[in-house]
Amino acid sequence: MEETRRSVPFECRSCWHVWQEDYTVRHEEDDHGNAGEVWLRGGLPAPPPSSGAVCPQCGCQQSTTFPDGYLSHHPELTAQAEPGAPDATPLLSPVRGPLY
Ligand SMILES: [Zn+2]
Repeated sequence: MEETRRSVPFECRSCWHVWQEDYTVRHEEDDHGNAGEVWLRGGLPAPPPSSGAVCPQCGCQQSTTFPDGYLSHHPELTAQAEPGAPDATPLLSPVRGPLY
C-alpha cells in the first residue's frame, strides 16, 4: 500500500479566495487486482477534490481547482491569502543609551 500527500489548491469564483487543502491519497488494489485510489483528509475518507468544495471564506460552493503545482508558480496568490507572520520587533523608540 502506498500513500501520497497532495496539497490541492482551490479558488473561489465568488470572492476569489485561494486556499489549499491537504489530502492523503492511498493507492490500493482490490481482490481482483484493480488499482484504486482512496482520498483521505485528516485521516478520514473524503471525496476526491473537485469543483464544488465549500469556500472557507464566504461559504459558497462556486470553487474550482488548480492543476497540481499551480500555486508554486504563482506564490502571490497564497501570499495575500495567509496572514503575515507577526513582527517580533517590539514597537519601541530606539534607545540611544543612558540619559545620565
Ligand atoms: Zn468564497
